[in-house]
Amino acid sequence: MVKNKNKKQAKTKIFYPKRCTFFIDTNNLINFQMFERIIEKFDDKTVNRLNEVINGVKFYVGGNQWHNTEKGYIKYPAFEFNFNDGILLIYLYKIFKLGYYRWKNMRYGALRRYIWESFCHELIMALVHLIKLNLNLAEIAKEYFLNDDNDFIQKFVSELFNYKENFPLRVNFIAINNSLWQESIPKKLGFLDILYRRKIDQLKGTINTQSIKIKFFNELRKIKLNNYKYEYNFSELINYCIHNKHFEMLFRYNENFYDKMRREFYYKAKRLILKFFKQYKISNEIKEYKDSANRTHYFLTHQTFERVKSACLQTCISKLKNQMLKDYQIFQNFYSQCPICQQKNLNQTNCEKFYFNSKFTFFKDILLEKMNEAKHLDDLNNDNYYFGIPCEECFKIVRNIHGKFSDLNQIQNFILNY
Ligand SMILES: [Zn+2]
Repeated sequence: MVKNKNKKQAKTKIFYPKRCTFFIDTNNLINFQMFERIIEKFDDKTVNRLNEVINGVKFYVGGNQWHNTEKGYIKYPAFEFNFNDGILLIYLYKIFKLGYYRWKNMRYGALRRYIWESFCHELIMALVHLIKLNLNLAEIAKEYFLNDDNDFIQKFVSELFNYKENFPLRVNFIAINNSLWQESIPKKLGFLDILYRRKIDQLKGTINTQSIKIKFFNELRKIKLNNYKYEYNFSELINYCIHNKHFEMLFRYNENFYDKMRREFYYKAKRLILKFFKQYKISNEIKEYKDSANRTHYFLTHQTFERVKSACLQTCISKLKNQMLKDYQIFQNFYSQCPICQQKNLNQTNCEKFYFNSKFTFFKDILLEKMNEAKHLDDLNNDNYYFGIPCEECFKIVRNIHGKFSDLNQIQNFILNY
């Protein structure tokens, strides 16, 4: 019985997706649905163009299957294109690795979703790249070692794909609000699942840092909770709300105080989000999980997470960030002009630094004190004496927030002479 099933699978490893004249050779490493779910998102025009440029897509694990030094092959991080037969070769191990590293560096999300996302992303990038292939040059490309690093080949390759200027070679991963991201993960991910299980087993024995430990145990709990029905620990929703570009400025300059600030923000955000859940009666969607030490952990489904994440983020921005930024805004407006070269509105970066970076606390205290004493920055400056936040150029020279203009000339002369 089992044997028959294997035979049947082996026979059907090649298929043609709807609308496509090129074949997919899964090598029994992926299932058809994984490919179809992606290609069905492409419009007719794009599929027709793909039909023109490629003959097939073939899946490999990776390792020593790359063709680094063969004529007519061009290599990218997770795929190759063979001009000799028009076949796109996709390498799953590389895809897995890219997904794994992204998961490791993110503060929320389940590993299997990152793996799936990586698969979608790399496949889409490969296909989108091949769309730009200049077919007039495809024949000549067979004669070249396309991975060579010399100017001639690089120029040829850029013409081969009609590169537009500034076209990003590898667009950053699919945006998180992409429709593929919102869908549920396929039940089976073929060989990627094998790599996933291997990684989990390997991590069991080797984990040492605290942050990855928490991620890893949450990952195990997610597997236990109805096999990935609950993809997010509640803490991941909180992290989503405070670790993003909206709060970046607050954390960026505070490496020393980072942990303290983060904890403070974390607990404030947690209270806000719990309140939000109560107010909109979402609390019943939280799944409780008790670990062996009888500690309770809270989990959410992907659907819940997707539905509430923006609203929770907005709540955190308006309640947490704005409060803090209001004070900063007054500060920035007051010190927006460089007291030395008098340039206006160039001071954004330095103002941020002085306000948020703990290194500059000494300066910040003086600046705040003076600001409260004066109505306008002009009141703190005169012909002989400057006070305020210098622009970056001027700060390089004076390294201070106040001084005499006469000293400034001496410093300038000193720098010019030496
Ligand atoms: Zn200046």
